[in-house]
Amino acid sequence: MKIIMLGAPGAGKGTQAKKIAEKYGIPHISTGDIFRANIKGGTELGMKAKAYMDQGQLVPDDVTIGMLLDRISEADCTGGYVLDGFPRTIPQAESLTEALNQRGEKMDYAINVDVPDEAIVTRMSGRRACLSCGATYHVVYNAPKSEGICDACGEALVLRDDDKPETVQKRLTVYHDQTQPLINYYQNEGILVTVDGTKELNEVFKDITAVLGA
Ligand code: ADP
Ligand code: AMP
Repeated sequence: MKIIMLGAPGAGKGTQAKKIAEKYGIPHISTGDIFRANIKGGTELGMKAKAYMDQGQLVPDDVTIGMLLDRISEADCTGGYVLDGFPRTIPQAESLTEALNQRGEKMDYAINVDVPDEAIVTRMSGRRACLSCGATYHVVYNAPKSEGICDACGEALVLRDDDKPETVQKRLTVYHDQTQPLINYYQNEGILVTVDGTKELNEVFKDITAVLGA
């Protein structure tokens, strides 16, 4: 099964993508996590990406598309995958469609996690991230067992630089300009499913699995 998660920054794409990956035994591929791992590792790609991420801007398509297409060509992706944070622009979506077409494949679902802007800033200011394993928490809605410590790997949790309110506003503007048009793109492809992302996170997951099946 090949799935795309769509939605504003902070809508809950990563939270749901991890649960989908676990239930259906497919890899969770987050372009944001790949960029953050590169920043942590001090790679050239990481340094290039950081300049854009810190400003709340998108990393340019010429960097992002090749990186994602390489990742989905790896051996663990033969049984499908869940994409989180890609595509974010029409050219990214078109490149993905074309690359899959060439292999005689197509995406199965684009799941749009719908959350209004008003709820996003609260979510992002409470988000805590583990930069070591990619796990995400919320100080109120999905708290770790021990404050500030990742349940999964024991590393310290951080407030991402780009989750500060001023950057979140910028990211929301970028989302509306560049990413929201993908909702129509995937509606036209006939694979769009919209879920209400304001529900409690296990309820959102139930709505998603009702569509994906057991
Ligand atoms: P995205 O990957 O779309 O940027 P995340 O999955 O990281 O978003 O979620 C953003 C924040 O909101 C996190 O702190 C997460 O724990 C929290 N969150 C996710 N889903 C819900 C939900 N349904 N209700 C309340 N908080 C949520
Ligand atoms: P995320 O972890 O999905 O919230 O992404 C964090 C940041 O990484 C974004 O604000 C962008 O700067 C960058 N990024 C992640 N995925 C993409 C993408 N598909 N295209 C461009 N930039 C991206």
